[in-house]
Amino acid sequence: METYQQKLAAARERVEEVTPEALNVAAGLILDVRTSDETALGLIPNAVTLPMDRVKAEIRSLDVQPGDRIVLYCAVGERSLLAAAELLDAGYTNVASLAGGMKRWMSLGLPTTSPSGLSDLSRRRYARHIVMPQVGIAGQQTLIDARVVIIGAGGLGSPAALYLAAAGVGTIGLVDHDVVELSNLQRQILHGTADIGMAKVTSGAQRIREIDSSVSIQPHDTMLDSSNALGILGSYDLAIDATDNFATRYLINDASIHVGVPVVHGSVFRFEGQLAVFKPHETACYRCVFPDPPPGDLAPNCTEAGVFGVLPGVVGTMQATEALKLLLGIGEPLLGRLLTYDALSQTIHTVRLKRRPDCVACSGPPPPLRDHPEYC
Ligand SMILES: [Zn+2]
Repeated sequence: METYQQKLAAARERVEEVTPEALNVAAGLILDVRTSDETALGLIPNAVTLPMDRVKAEIRSLDVQPGDRIVLYCAVGERSLLAAAELLDAGYTNVASLAGGMKRWMSLGLPTTSPSGLSDLSRRRYARHIVMPQVGIAGQQTLIDARVVIIGAGGLGSPAALYLAAAGVGTIGLVDHDVVELSNLQRQILHGTADIGMAKVTSGAQRIREIDSSVSIQPHDTMLDSSNALGILGSYDLAIDATDNFATRYLINDASIHVGVPVVHGSVFRFEGQLAVFKPHETACYRCVFPDPPPGDLAPNCTEAGVFGVLPGVVGTMQATEALKLLLGIGEPLLGRLLTYDALSQTIHTVRLKRRPDCVACSGPPPPLRDHPEYC
């Protein structure tokens, strides 16, 4: 094994070093490879921040050509040497490291700028959000700080997870205890053929990291039940009910009322989908609308009833839409409304939902959680 000092010596042999006095900050790309804690204290003017461990993976997202000038810097000029050597290996030919790093830059009294809340990389990634007044930099920062849990990494959870990750939601919890099966792939686009046999939360986390490695994925490889529901839901800002069974749906509803977390509910059956947003003690809850599940023989799950493959794509994407609206506080979320979607006729209807004064879940203090093995 090469030691750090040996790696550094090898990099110093290959990488050009420039002095702070000789650095032209107006030419080429100036890349700050320090951590966000370090860059918060100030940057070299025009520098773009990209932490060292992400340089190799994300340099392409900065639109630089292999021959373009790239000068990297860190605190003292060591990490930047190593990262520059990685860029040489990746085919970038005009790469240099700032000798002495930010420490030397500041000791010479050269100018620095204070970074804005969003890194340059985030500004570029979310440029189409940031230009919209309804989102802007503040809204994007809200999404980055948000925590959303998706219960069910299947047909509905797949598009919801993909779009929330792409939109910049910073922490995404995935709850599922199943493994990927061949018959899932007709609709569960979070998973691929190579993932068959893998835990869905593992496969889903891998796919989300391909979209954005900075999203924090919290895999919960477990079945949601009365013993863990409060702990899981209670550590998020928002829950997406992407389950396929009534037992979990009622449990999510009851737990959400205990912990005060809004739920974006979705369900699919053959060609029909349903969507609603339940906000504890403000809108009707799932039990206000459906006090009891249908009897087992009238409530076939997806396996038995079949589902048009694209339908959960539509409904799960609508769930992501509602989640983003709720987090940003924009538009008119489906609060206290039930949307029904018919894929065959391509029609959408919404109806208002009333709170039930005698609802067992939300009219008084919420009852203790219990599992419903009798529900399908
Ligand atoms: Zn209720």
